[in-house]
Amino acid sequence: MALIIKNGTIYTASDSYRADILAEGEKITHIAGKITAGKGDEVIDASGLEIYPGAIDVHTHLDMPFMGTVTADDFESGTIAAACGGTTALIDFATPAKGQPLGDAIKLWHKKAGGKSAIDYGFHIAIIEFNERVASEIPALIKEGITSIKCFLAYKGALMINDGEFIQTLEVAKRHGALVSVHAENGEMLTYLAGKLVAEGKTGPEYHEASHPAIAEGEAVHRGAALAKLAGTPLYIVHTSCKEALDEIKIAMADQRVIFGETCPQYLLLSNKLYHGNGFEAAKWVMSPPLRDGENNQIMWNAVRDGFIKVIATDHCSFNFKGQKDAGISSFAKIPNGAPGIGDRVNLVYSYGVAQGKISRNKFAEVMSTNPAKIFGMFPKKGSIAIGSDADFTIIDPAKKGKISVKTSHHKVDYNSFEGFKLHGMNVMTVSRGRLIARDDKFLGAIDHGQYLKRNKFNPDEWSAQ
Ligand SMILES: [Zn+2]
Repeated sequence: MALIIKNGTIYTASDSYRADILAEGEKITHIAGKITAGKGDEVIDASGLEIYPGAIDVHTHLDMPFMGTVTADDFESGTIAAACGGTTALIDFATPAKGQPLGDAIKLWHKKAGGKSAIDYGFHIAIIEFNERVASEIPALIKEGITSIKCFLAYKGALMINDGEFIQTLEVAKRHGALVSVHAENGEMLTYLAGKLVAEGKTGPEYHEASHPAIAEGEAVHRGAALAKLAGTPLYIVHTSCKEALDEIKIAMADQRVIFGETCPQYLLLSNKLYHGNGFEAAKWVMSPPLRDGENNQIMWNAVRDGFIKVIATDHCSFNFKGQKDAGISSFAKIPNGAPGIGDRVNLVYSYGVAQGKISRNKFAEVMSTNPAKIFGMFPKKGSIAIGSDADFTIIDPAKKGKISVKTSHHKVDYNSFEGFKLHGMNVMTVSRGRLIARDDKFLGAIDHGQYLKRNKFNPDEWSAQ
């Protein structure tokens, strides 16, 4: 059976045009001004609607042990929320424990996701220590399609690696065809500041921000970029939040280096005012990097518009306020870091970016789908509306209005970071590999529909001229 999407307007990273789309099986097989439906074909009337390549979230933490607990959303709830919110693929961070073989961590993540994903999924591997064993394990993972490696310059004593380990990781990744991404905050600064604040009796969640200053982020982006330059390899900066970090990305780009900046809706839309006047509820927004001020929100929008930020992902890392975040009632340093967002990214970026004229529809397609697919080895299977690509679509009604609330959210967590945010322009249909998996925020898919994405090697030559 075929699926025909009629009368919609297609927006890709480069084009905007009216056309019908035919999907046979899981692929796009025809795009034309007018396609006539055959007997038994499923027809979606997209009159007045906008059709985008399926949105991809390359930064999620589902079912992940962290800071003495486990993230609230697993693959089932996380991918259903994603599907209802217009996201058709994600890449999650498989994070090994110290001493655990990387292959075992990947096996474990396959177990977490297999048969329990409503949308397609891939994995990044986190490197939390570097030694000969780790180095020897990386090539096999790349062969399995895990072609991106995450390193942390923060979380001292847990996930952080030192500069020597980082540069060796960059070199191994370069040799075998993986892209390294980095959580760029100076872990030594953060540990020092947290200790100092707690010793002074400043233990409330409002001090989290003071323990993660912008200078710590700027320094780590600079250092990460310098180490990548030394290794002669590109670098991807996750969750960029502020001017200090962005300036370092711009310097590296001006120096003809290939550096990819990612940001998240929380750094575009939420400000550090939330840390004040909310009592312990401020813990809901304890994440790293922390929320910055409103001026930085605007700076990050401009950076998306101007191409210094290439990807908007979520860093979905949900913990319940009651029963998880409250582990830090006596000290902000013990609050599990992270917040939900996987189900809200498309609607938020559309409503506050496209509908408010901050970014174009083509830019929306680019940062939500095409760039993530290209950077992480999924293009043109994903990230594209073209013959032969997967029939993955995010279909948006620019006139539809709504409001974000934990009451209607599909996340399995007891609050929403964007509670009360009004939406104007919302995802109304999500199509994954030729199948309508969500309509008007209702999940219509199957929990075992999602397939593992074996991603292509990273090819730096594709990015030499940014
Ligand atoms: Zn993260």
